[in-house]
Amino acid sequence: MYNLYMRFNFKEKFNKLLDNIFVNDFKCIVCGKEILRNSRYSMCKDCLAKLPYIKKSCEKCGESIVSGNLCLNCKRELPKITQNFSVFDYSKPINYLITNLKYDNKKYIANYLSNFLVEKFIESNIKVDFVIPVPISENRLKIRGYNQAELLCSAFNEKLNMEVCPNLVSRIVDTISQTSLSRKERLTNLTNTFKVNDKNKIKGKSILIVDDVYTTGATINEIAKVLFKAKAKNVYGLTIAHSVNNVLMEETLKE
Ligand SMILES: [Zn+2]
Ligand SMILES: [Zn+2]
Repeated sequence: MYNLYMRFNFKEKFNKLLDNIFVNDFKCIVCGKEILRNSRYSMCKDCLAKLPYIKKSCEKCGESIVSGNLCLNCKRELPKITQNFSVFDYSKPINYLITNLKYDNKKYIANYLSNFLVEKFIESNIKVDFVIPVPISENRLKIRGYNQAELLCSAFNEKLNMEVCPNLVSRIVDTISQTSLSRKERLTNLTNTFKVNDKNKIKGKSILIVDDVYTTGATINEIAKVLFKAKAKNVYGLTIAHSVNNVLMEETLKE
């Protein structure tokens, strides 16, 4: 019988085949200039030098700040998470890369971005037992065919031999699109969205949650909440990008 699951499986296999045929590592993924085949980030020197790296960041949520230790939002209310780290400001060309990864089926981008995550993780000097990618809903997974956060974890497994656990936390309800909601509503809209599937594995452990963008922090902090409830010792977050001054970009709010 032909059902949705089979269709999803076929799409996945077909995409894998395409990924193998069209190897995208001859050209800079930002400007398209020719580069060496084995360039680590698949970017030319010029584009690499211009990336919007976060230099000084909020000690709690990782947002780019000019002075002091905490950003305005964290001064108002500290997030649940032990600490979040982000590599870049959510601005050009990182926002384009993330949009292409999520909505244009360009899965190969995740492999390159994953290297930045691993470097940030090493630089942060934190110790964790395993990595959890932020789960997306079943519906979204069927439509997209992959979870971009899971793909972003690839280098943790391949380069650091760390355990990545994509099924330890699942998203139980399809949250209504966040775009129409205020900041406060957005933060509460996710309550009871996530559940831990194996509490024994969480107890006493330090965990790293990986996602593409930290926007309001609602998603990562909601997961942190359920992990702490399951007695996690520390819950860290790590994302490719962090919204600038908490400006909400519409596309980042969609899963
Ligand atoms: Zn370039
Ligand atoms: Zn902050």
